[in-house]
Amino acid sequence: MELFTDSFIAGEWCPASDHLAVLDPATGAEFASVARAGIADCLDAVEAAAKAFSAWSTTPARERSEVLRRAFELMRADIDTIAELIVRENGKVLADARAEAAYATEFFRWFSEEAVRINGEYRTAPAGDKQIVVAREPMGVALLVTPWNFPAAMATRKIAPALAAGCTVVVKPASETPLTALRIAHLLERAGVPAGVVNVVVPSPAGEAVAAMMAHSAVQTLSFTGSTEVGEILLAQAAPRILRCSLELGGNAPFVVYDDADLDAAVAGAMVAKMRNGGAACTAANRFYVQSGIVAAFTERFAAAMSALRLDEGTAPGAELGPMVSAAERDRVAGLVDATLGNGVRLVTGGEPPARPGYYYAATVLDRVSPSDPILATEIFGPVAPIVEFGSDNEVIDMCNDTDRGLISYVYTRDVGKGMRTAHALQAGMVALNRGIVSDPAAPFGGVKKSGIGREGGFDGVGEFLETKYIAVQW
Ligand code: NAP
Repeated sequence: MELFTDSFIAGEWCPASDHLAVLDPATGAEFASVARAGIADCLDAVEAAAKAFSAWSTTPARERSEVLRRAFELMRADIDTIAELIVRENGKVLADARAEAAYATEFFRWFSEEAVRINGEYRTAPAGDKQIVVAREPMGVALLVTPWNFPAAMATRKIAPALAAGCTVVVKPASETPLTALRIAHLLERAGVPAGVVNVVVPSPAGEAVAAMMAHSAVQTLSFTGSTEVGEILLAQAAPRILRCSLELGGNAPFVVYDDADLDAAVAGAMVAKMRNGGAACTAANRFYVQSGIVAAFTERFAAAMSALRLDEGTAPGAELGPMVSAAERDRVAGLVDATLGNGVRLVTGGEPPARPGYYYAATVLDRVSPSDPILATEIFGPVAPIVEFGSDNEVIDMCNDTDRGLISYVYTRDVGKGMRTAHALQAGMVALNRGIVSDPAAPFGGVKKSGIGREGGFDGVGEFLETKYIAVQW
């Protein structure tokens, strides 16, 4: 597999004297090293994007759309390699990596279709004194900062709408997983994206370099996906420039199983909602609230499915749970479980790292967790499922909403009326009703409360990169 390891600035692959190691989480061994961009390189990338903006933003939407469509075709043809690359740098199992690569690819298709449907408005003012013309214009240079848990999808979910809108971009992928974004830049280059429209730099540490780029006057918007903690820092940093921010931050998803749920469907949904990406997803079910009448059966069946998962290297045939991305992440999750077990909680399965090299942690189910246990206020981001029993329908809504996060909630019930009432009462940007997964490029993805600002995908995604201009017309 050809690896792209240089910075991509102004259409050129730029080597560096300083390098950053990319580790294979299955072994802990270095398998590549990428150019470590300095602050000057990052600012060059911003300048290149600024220079390319005028031509790209005035390129007919149909042409921009066709470039994105070619990117879709090229990425679709490259899915096996992208998936393999994701496994190597992130550690997730191949089935998850393929699913991510396919999902990531679809953002190019969806936004190639949206590029030609950016509407404005034309109407007469109520007072009859003028015409109101509303145009939606590309904002300028967009800074795109992405996390390690979905190295392909978080990049394309930002790049595709930005390019559809007519913006140019600087992508800053996570330092653990930079290779996928660099490969996507190569695909975009082949798709005919002009020099400077897409730039990728990997500075490390990220803080100072991202701050320098945010301070550059050409940068008109920041689109960030990552932790709520870093989101808070970036929002404060954006304040002096009143820089527009679109933030996709951490979650703390409740997974509600009412007594009348279809048990088979609830267990299957729980496995997807909890274990996609080994639990390292912002959408991961983080707290299981199961009603008294079904809790014993659900716990038994769910724990059996969790303990049956085949734990192995991502590319091993039949592997279902790969290693975590780093030793630090594994140790953090192990510490969280150990602290919770001290609180009178029962360990149903798992509860320790298996004796093998690599950053593995066993699929773990804890039950008899009290509603006030600290684990329920923590984004676990690993293969650990705490179960809380609840009694009445009403009490579970308060339990679900007792958090400062609000990305997604899952609800299982055969009573669709109750499901819809619950969905409306939950403080979340997204609700999965009798489903373990919601992600779809055609749907608006995003959260409320400290889970973020703005939406990606759907009809809203391109709007994050557009500014509204009102022209009052009289003749
Ligand atoms: P993270 O630590 O916040 O890092 C995300 C990105 O921000 C990385 O590129 C990182 O660069 C960079 N970064 C770190 N510190 C920074 C700083 N001080 N200034 C500017 N940039 C900085 O998050 P993560 O651990 O990679 O990802 C996990 C988190 O992302 C979880 O909380 C998860 O819920 C969230 N997430 C949310 C969504 C969503 O759509 N809502 C989707 C996926 C993930 P380095 O890698 O170089 O540190």
